Amino acid sequence: MYCFKCGKEIPDDSVFCPACGTKQDGTAQEPKPANAGPAPTPPANAGYAQPVNQSPIHKAQYNLLCILGLVISLISLVFNYFGLVGLGGVIVSVIGLVLCNRRKENGRILGALGVLFGAVSVITAVVAMM
Ligand SMILES: [Zn+2]
Repeated sequence: MYCFKCGKEIPDDSVFCPACGTKQDGTAQEPKPANAGPAPTPPANAGYAQPVNQSPIHKAQYNLLCILGLVISLISLVFNYFGLVGLGGVIVSVIGLVLCNRRKENGRILGALGVLFGAVSVITAVVAMM
């Protein structure tokens, strides 16, 4: 047990605390922090439970690379620069899709569209060069 006044660990059958001399009578059971050594653990677990509850909110985020890849691919439809912009859009979109799957983020449709538009731009540019 622990002294209810100074908190020092003392023998269970102690009547007086050897450290501070306080009598360990019935009121000594009042301070549960000392008696409930294992008790602080559940509050600690409850504290860990909060971040777990927060993570689903983070999972709902949109993947920025998927959005960026789609934007680059859309730009490439107008300004392709020999298919290089479209190629960049495809690469960024593919990376975005991979990250989407790993992090379980939203935006896979955007990434897929980015790949599609980027590929169309590259193919158009290649055909134009031939
Ligand atoms: Zn004491």
